Amino acid sequence: MTPLSFLGFNEAHAATVMAYFRGRAMTKEEFERGYAERGGISLEQLHAWGRGAVPCDCGAPECAGWQMVNLEDYAEHMRLIEWIAATRDHFPGQHPSA
Ligand SMILES: [Zn+2]
Repeated sequence: MTPLSFLGFNEAHAATVMAYFRGRAMTKEEFERGYAERGGISLEQLHAWGRGAVPCDCGAPECAGWQMVNLEDYAEHMRLIEWIAATRDHFPGQHPSA
Protein backbone atom coordinates (compact mmCIF):
# COMPACT_ATOMS: atom_id res chain seq x y z
CA MET A 1 0.00 0.00 0.00
CA THR A 2 1.46 3.34 -1.03
CA PRO A 3 0.28 6.86 -0.17
CA LEU A 4 -1.02 7.28 -3.71
CA SER A 5 -3.16 4.14 -3.80
CA PHE A 6 -6.20 6.14 -2.80
CA LEU A 7 -5.89 8.13 -6.02
CA GLY A 8 -6.30 4.99 -8.05
CA PHE A 9 -2.64 4.53 -8.96
CA ASN A 10 -1.51 0.93 -9.10
CA GLU A 11 1.54 0.03 -7.01
CA ALA A 12 4.04 0.41 -9.84
CA HIS A 13 2.75 3.80 -10.94
CA ALA A 14 2.53 5.04 -7.37
CA ALA A 15 6.14 4.03 -6.70
CA THR A 16 7.27 5.88 -9.81
CA VAL A 17 5.33 9.02 -8.91
CA MET A 18 6.58 8.98 -5.32
CA ALA A 19 10.19 8.63 -6.50
CA TYR A 20 9.65 11.57 -8.82
CA PHE A 21 8.40 13.85 -6.07
CA ARG A 22 11.18 12.82 -3.68
CA GLY A 23 13.60 14.24 -6.21
CA ARG A 24 16.47 12.57 -7.99
CA ALA A 25 20.20 12.99 -7.58
CA MET A 26 20.60 13.69 -11.29
CA THR A 27 18.60 13.97 -14.47
CA LYS A 28 17.85 10.96 -16.64
CA GLU A 29 20.26 12.22 -19.30
CA GLU A 30 23.07 12.76 -16.76
CA PHE A 31 22.58 9.22 -15.50
CA GLU A 32 22.57 7.72 -19.00
CA ARG A 33 25.59 9.78 -20.06
CA GLY A 34 27.58 8.73 -16.99
CA TYR A 35 26.64 5.09 -17.53
CA ALA A 36 27.73 5.23 -21.17
CA GLU A 37 31.00 6.99 -20.31
CA ARG A 38 31.89 4.42 -17.66
CA GLY A 39 31.33 1.74 -20.28
CA GLY A 40 33.42 3.58 -22.85
CA ILE A 41 30.55 4.00 -25.31
CA SER A 42 28.49 6.93 -26.58
CA LEU A 43 25.00 7.79 -25.43
CA GLU A 44 23.81 7.09 -28.98
CA GLN A 45 25.32 3.59 -28.85
CA LEU A 46 23.66 2.93 -25.51
CA HIS A 47 20.28 3.87 -26.98
CA ALA A 48 20.98 1.92 -30.18
CA TRP A 49 21.37 -1.18 -28.00
CA GLY A 50 17.90 -0.60 -26.58
CA ARG A 51 19.15 0.53 -23.19
CA GLY A 52 17.76 3.46 -21.27
CA ALA A 53 17.19 4.78 -17.77
CA VAL A 54 13.89 4.35 -15.96
CA PRO A 55 12.96 5.60 -12.49
CA CYS A 56 14.33 3.47 -9.64
CA ASP A 57 12.57 3.29 -6.30
CA CYS A 58 14.89 0.82 -4.55
CA GLY A 59 15.34 3.15 -1.58
CA ALA A 60 19.12 2.64 -1.33
CA PRO A 61 20.78 5.80 0.03
CA GLU A 62 23.33 5.78 -2.78
CA CYS A 63 20.64 5.34 -5.45
CA ALA A 64 20.69 8.00 -8.17
CA GLY A 65 16.95 7.50 -8.68
CA TRP A 66 17.46 5.79 -12.03
CA GLN A 67 18.21 2.29 -13.19
CA MET A 68 19.56 1.14 -16.55
CA VAL A 69 17.33 -1.37 -18.30
CA ASN A 70 16.65 -3.03 -21.62
CA LEU A 71 13.66 -0.85 -22.52
CA GLU A 72 11.84 -3.64 -24.37
CA ASP A 73 12.13 -6.01 -21.41
CA TYR A 74 11.09 -3.23 -19.07
CA ALA A 75 7.97 -2.44 -21.13
CA GLU A 76 7.03 -6.13 -21.01
CA HIS A 77 7.65 -6.16 -17.25
CA MET A 78 5.39 -3.12 -16.77
CA ARG A 79 2.65 -4.67 -18.93
CA LEU A 80 2.78 -7.76 -16.70
CA ILE A 81 2.58 -5.69 -13.52
CA GLU A 82 -0.40 -3.76 -14.90
CA TRP A 83 -2.10 -6.98 -15.95
CA ILE A 84 -1.62 -8.45 -12.48
CA ALA A 85 -3.06 -5.30 -10.90
CA ALA A 86 -5.97 -5.20 -13.36
CA THR A 87 -6.91 -8.86 -12.85
CA ARG A 88 -6.38 -8.93 -9.08
CA ASP A 89 -10.10 -8.96 -8.35
CA HIS A 90 -10.78 -11.75 -10.84
CA PHE A 91 -8.41 -14.20 -9.20
CA PRO A 92 -8.97 -13.88 -5.46
CA GLY A 93 -6.32 -15.67 -3.46
CA GLN A 94 -3.94 -15.85 -6.40
CA HIS A 95 -2.09 -12.71 -5.46
CA PRO A 96 0.09 -12.42 -2.35
CA SER A 97 -1.28 -8.98 -1.43
CA ALA A 98 -4.87 -9.45 -2.61
ZN1 LIG B 1 17.68 2.49 -6.97
